[in-house]
Amino acid sequence: MGYCCPRCNGQNVQSFAVAHANGFSTVNTQTRAGLAFHATTQGIQQNVVSQMTAPPLKMEFIPTQGLLRKVGVLLGCYIGVSVVVSQVLGANGPVPQTVTLASLAGLLVWRFRAVSQHNMQEWPLLYERWQKSWVCLQCGEGFLVGV
Ligand SMILES: [Zn+2]
Repeated sequence: MGYCCPRCNGQNVQSFAVAHANGFSTVNTQTRAGLAFHATTQGIQQNVVSQMTAPPLKMEFIPTQGLLRKVGVLLGCYIGVSVVVSQVLGANGPVPQTVTLASLAGLLVWRFRAVSQHNMQEWPLLYERWQKSWVCLQCGEGFLVGV
């Protein structure tokens, strides 16, 4: 099964999935400067082709990592909404609080719908397209196969 690049006719082509997976390497280097300075660099490195061929990501309801940050984002939204509401409606009291909570609930519902729509309707199409995408390792051209 040999595909070739539509731009340069090169045979050195890879599917996005393979190019992405092959682009990771483990780094373990030691740097020494004189006797005093000694540093070790360890980690995983990703090459440019691998970054280019990364699969499409699903959206997260709260796009941060870690529970604490997610709670922080929610708290920030609550504070932001309550500031806006108290600016519009004036002083504190039961009415502004109700409006704040209702606005926040509306915001969360809106966000939930946007995330669900992306993950259930748009993401599968993007992922299917990604699975059919190939990259030429000679000229960098990306192209679709089997569509
Ligand atoms: Zn090419």
